[in-house]
Amino acid sequence: MSYQVLARKWRPRNFESLVGQEHVVRALRHALDEKRLHHAYLFSGTRGVGKTTLARILAKSLNCETGISSRPCGKCSACLEIDAGRYVDLIEVDAATNTKVDEMRELLENSVYAPTRGRFKVYVIDEVHMLSTSAFNAMLKTLEEPPEHIKFILATTDPQKIPVTVLSRCLQFNLKQMPPAAIAAHLAAILGEEKIASEEPALRLLSGAARGSMRDALSLLDQAIAHGGGNVTEQGVRAMLGAIDDAYLYTILEGVARRDAQGLLAIAEEMRSRSVAFDGALQELGSLLHKVALAQAAPEAVDGAGSLRDRLLALAKAFDPEDVQLCYQIAIHGRQDLPFAPDDFAGFTMALLRMLAFATGEQGAAERGKGGGEKPAATVVPSGPRQAGFDGDWPRLANALNLGGVAKQLAQASELQRFDGESIELCVPPAAKHLAEKGFQDKLRAALQEHFGKPVRLTVRIGDTGGNTARDRAAAAISQDAFVRDLVENFDATIVESSIKPTQ
Ligand SMILES: [Zn+2]
Repeated sequence: MSYQVLARKWRPRNFESLVGQEHVVRALRHALDEKRLHHAYLFSGTRGVGKTTLARILAKSLNCETGISSRPCGKCSACLEIDAGRYVDLIEVDAATNTKVDEMRELLENSVYAPTRGRFKVYVIDEVHMLSTSAFNAMLKTLEEPPEHIKFILATTDPQKIPVTVLSRCLQFNLKQMPPAAIAAHLAAILGEEKIASEEPALRLLSGAARGSMRDALSLLDQAIAHGGGNVTEQGVRAMLGAIDDAYLYTILEGVARRDAQGLLAIAEEMRSRSVAFDGALQELGSLLHKVALAQAAPEAVDGAGSLRDRLLALAKAFDPEDVQLCYQIAIHGRQDLPFAPDDFAGFTMALLRMLAFATGEQGAAERGKGGGEKPAATVVPSGPRQAGFDGDWPRLANALNLGGVAKQLAQASELQRFDGESIELCVPPAAKHLAEKGFQDKLRAALQEHFGKPVRLTVRIGDTGGNTARDRAAAAISQDAFVRDLVENFDATIVESSIKPTQ
């Protein structure tokens, strides 16, 4: 099967079969059926959404031998010749290659002659924004006093670059990017007609890769059919697109959540052995983090089914929303930095380690810290049921308390002043005094009460602290970490103190 066979075969030949542009189609059909015809139409939209396809259908509607209508017959010689791209009164120009004023003038000079065969001479000018100013001026003269037998159909990916004087003489239509689901459905329908077996995840991959362009989707589908020897399988499409198995990405984020540096490196190594493209992997990782963030904001809106859905919801629980944001940034920046990395593998693993070092704060750092320096608090907090009582180590208790959000930050930013078994007095530095609002104090009090199993009096005052908060410990652990020190010393990095958070 030769390349682009499907793209050509399934190019829509009438308004009915044009997918995803219903709003434009409705308006055009109405105008045609009412015989309210304009001299100039402008179709704007990103590449591959069907601008020139629509232009050809419109040209048929105008010149079909059965009469002007929104349902050209598709059988008369005008329709057939337009479909075949050899109709004498349809003049298609690509402005990207014909921007010279002379060529435009010559084209327009010929427009005064009546059409050879059809009702109208139809000029389709693609990428019209590429015309030079003088070429636009030449066109404008014709647009101002257009002969009855002339129709202009302009298409552009960049309508901003078209002079207002031209825009104002066109009937404008903005074509939408096609949503992946609509593309996948269309591919499924075509494959059904062609009696070609396909797997649904494969079509989802193809429609995602087409990025809103039906033309690209059809080209990719052709390649996939050739690649798969007549079948369209998920495995084959993945290999063709160099797409990453989602399972890798989930495993990576699960590793970050578990703070499992060794596991992360093992996965990266396996990806390398399978020649996964790391640029694409970082992109997909960003896209998965986006899904995690959405799942955190609206868990009930998570669609899909099966094990990946469960894993997504588990990730949404395992991460702090702020950590998700941070990891997302690291993935995006890691991708931008990839060209400067020693190699893609190094760039990719550094991005993963950065997530460990920063997003989950001290514990990730501690695991690679090889003992030196003070042990961060979180590593000695038992993960089992909390111990009742208090040994005076407030930073450790602050991390262990059953708290979330700002109340947790309050606990972690404060220093113990006094504790006598019934009342507890804390001090918060002036820079963090916004954490000490009553509502957050109430939550902290409730958590303390839960911890001690009895009412506790809590006093929070604002004042200078002596460096013995959970935050201070996390910052110390971070700055002692060899990897972070290397970043600071050799890459001119600075540690954003406020971004460091003790482990939950
Ligand atoms: Zn016809």
